[in-house]
Amino acid sequence: MTETPRQPTPIAIVGVGKIARDQHIPAIAADPRFELAATVSRSGGVDGVENHASVEALLEARPDVEALSLCMPPIPRFNAARAAIAAGRHVMLEKPPGATVAEVLTLDRMSRDANVTLFATWHSRHAAAAGPARDWLAEKRLTGIRVDWKEDVRKWHPGQDWIWRAGGLGVFDPGINALSLLTAICPVPLHLTSATLSVPENRATPIAADLEFSDGEDLTAMAAFDWRQKGGEIWQIEVETDAGTLSLTEGGARMFVDGTERGLEDPGEYPDLYRRFGDLLADGASDVDPLPLIHVADAFMLGRHLTVEPFED
Ligand code: NAP
Repeated sequence: MTETPRQPTPIAIVGVGKIARDQHIPAIAADPRFELAATVSRSGGVDGVENHASVEALLEARPDVEALSLCMPPIPRFNAARAAIAAGRHVMLEKPPGATVAEVLTLDRMSRDANVTLFATWHSRHAAAAGPARDWLAEKRLTGIRVDWKEDVRKWHPGQDWIWRAGGLGVFDPGINALSLLTAICPVPLHLTSATLSVPENRATPIAADLEFSDGEDLTAMAAFDWRQKGGEIWQIEVETDAGTLSLTEGGARMFVDGTERGLEDPGEYPDLYRRFGDLLADGASDVDPLPLIHVADAFMLGRHLTVEPFED
């Protein structure tokens, strides 16, 4: 007997901003398992796609929309996710999965009770080098880790006011990508031991952060996040081991061992995110890992706050 191919899952995007336009819409269009059925957008949405003014309006009008991909900033995401789960819909969350750790735990529990899929995405874990780096490190003894995640905020977040308000995470908005990648490849658990957060005197969130982690034994990981970078971004992780040095550059798109580049397959982070979401839906499973957000929360909790010069757009 031949199996009838499953119809694509009708999915709605909520919050049609930079990441929705740059990545989610093309990734959905290229994935036969999904069909962009609607949007929720206060600014008009996408040409040719039905738009709703609120998540509640979408849930009411379109019971056929099985999944929602929440692409807005973190603060408004919890209420939207909660409403969608309560209406029995599957939910994919952009990173960070919540404005607080407790929000994520609540959504995780709600989704289990409602028997729907919750996918808290970390796009950097879908970078080409993530899997090969994890496999390469698996059997090695790590002796040092150095993370540099530096970019020009004016280039990457033009006019985004929410990143500077409480809950917007500041430089941890990109920095959490590094932490999501590091926690995916590092074979031993790390915890934060110190942090210095540099906060412009006219803003609520840091423009730079220096972090130190430990495995509780002799392994130390240093991380420097900075939004004042000029002359090209640096998104790299270097891991020293008893069997050589692993370097991930360009956010995990490239991998080097002792300076020699390894060839990698690269489906693209967002196509791979939707492949994973499709698999989770097919399996009736969820994927929720709050650990990168926990490290950020720890940095805000343990960190020393330095006031630095004002930042103007
Ligand atoms: P953005 O362009 O500033 O905003 C996304 C969209 O969310 C807005 O255009 C708006 O869409 C909606 N929105 C904004 N504020 C809202 C509010 N208070 N209530 C409801 N909806 C609101 O931000 P973004 O860069 O796309 O980032 C969104 C999320 O994706 C963040 O969590 C970010 O960390 C993550 N992300 C961003 C990037 C990137 O390169 N930008 C990369 C990876 C992940 P409507 O006008 O359609 O309502």
